Amino acid sequence: MTSVNQIREAFLAYFEKHGHTRQPSAPLVPQNDPSLLFVNAGMVPFKNIFTGAETPVSPRAVTSQKCVRAGGKHNDLDNVGYTARHHTFFEMLGNFSFGDYFKDEAIAFAWEVVTKEFGLDPKRLLVTVYSEDDEAAAIWKKVAGFDDSKIIRISTSDNFWSMGDTGPCGPCSEIFYDHGEDIPGGPPGSPDEDGDRFIEIWNLVFMQFNQLAGGARENLPKPSIDTGMGLERISAVLQHVHNNYEIDLFRGLIEAEESVYGARATGDKLASFRVIADHLRTSAFLIADGVLPSNEGRGYVLRRIMRRAMRHGHLLGAREPLMYKLTPALISEMGEAYPELGRAKAAIEAALEQEEARFQRTLGNGLSLLEKESETLKQGDALPGETAFKLYDTYGFPLDLTQDILRARGMTVDVDAFDASMEVQREGSRAAGFASGDQATDEIWFRVRDKVGATNFTGYGKTEGTGKL
Ligand code: ATP
Ligand code: MG
Ligand code: MG
Ligand code: MG
Repeated sequence: MTSVNQIREAFLAYFEKHGHTRQPSAPLVPQNDPSLLFVNAGMVPFKNIFTGAETPVSPRAVTSQKCVRAGGKHNDLDNVGYTARHHTFFEMLGNFSFGDYFKDEAIAFAWEVVTKEFGLDPKRLLVTVYSEDDEAAAIWKKVAGFDDSKIIRISTSDNFWSMGDTGPCGPCSEIFYDHGEDIPGGPPGSPDEDGDRFIEIWNLVFMQFNQLAGGARENLPKPSIDTGMGLERISAVLQHVHNNYEIDLFRGLIEAEESVYGARATGDKLASFRVIADHLRTSAFLIADGVLPSNEGRGYVLRRIMRRAMRHGHLLGAREPLMYKLTPALISEMGEAYPELGRAKAAIEAALEQEEARFQRTLGNGLSLLEKESETLKQGDALPGETAFKLYDTYGFPLDLTQDILRARGMTVDVDAFDASMEVQREGSRAAGFASGDQATDEIWFRVRDKVGATNFTGYGKTEGTGKL
């Protein structure tokens, strides 16, 4: 079987062989974009090259970029444990052309990688193109020999990428793999496209235009290419499993969890094992890149993720800190590709252990309160906002944790009443002379940001899109 580590290497080596400079992953905390929470796509570190503000070291690059999608415009936190294909941390493999090759070569490379390097059966593959992009459709027809039924035209923003309200933009073309009719879900563009049968493995972005303020678009003098393939998704295909969490890397992590938690990853416990494995990766990689759990900014996103994982640990029976004990297993799976993990081992373990010890002081009582208060609720009901606020304020439950617990039972939280309680408390602390800028502010801040998306959110003082890819 081809391992995740071998698949990553095969991709990087293929493009290196075809004139691309291999570059290491940039850190998860964006270096060039204060409006963005975390790097969420392979192109992010190259933004200034695509806009022309910086000159590339070479016209072609290939990377495996660490990505986190757990807030802002791209938030996959609520998908984890529910879909076969989403993580909050994942690796995006990508080849880039900075004004060098364009659509013809990009499509030819992609086709050769999936069908020759990776040996996928063309019958299982189909592609989407932007509805107006006749050029891409014609190239696919020629390169792959697909007829029109396998080249699906999409007219939504799913197939038109833009960096922000102005700047580089262009159509994209995505490659999908059909995992077979036993799995629910329809092809892209159909009403049930969000199912897990047809899984999007690779997005090719053709940066072709420059969007000007006021609506006009001009052709870029040197069009560019940006692509992104999910390493975990292509690994699932190549390892003949349907769910990303069944690939070798996750099997290794889940085995370590079984021994640390003393439970088996089966039945209704399986989702907890998967969530912990996902959140372990996100937490450890964020800590290795210098983020620590806190009550504000990026640190609060990290704390929310850690506490979600720790609640699942509690479901598996943890009554003392255990999550930190998974660090060596993660390093053994990923430490060679990402040496920063090994270097940060002590910091990762200490942060995880302290956070779990702290949360465990209130977690059990908080869960009992939630049980008691939701006893009288039926499916479709909302938990009173005052209770959610008490869980937040007294027991350290971020709102999204309470929502996540209730969602599994078909219940919600009365968020308006939660906000009202928060407001009352802030008024109180203001009256008592405490400064604002506390955890309460951040709780609301992040929700507003999640709702409006990073593109429109100007809280950091600057409007900038996170990019579709
Ligand atoms: P989806 O529609 O499945 O949510 P996407 O369109 O949001 O994916 P892109 O933004 O196009 O994804 O990112 C490029 C590639 O990165 C995707 O084709 C996919 O292979 C991978 N990818 C995106 N999000 C995730 C995730 N949360 N976990 C794992 N892989 C992902
Ligand atoms: Mg998505
Ligand atoms: Mg998509
Ligand atoms: Mg996509």
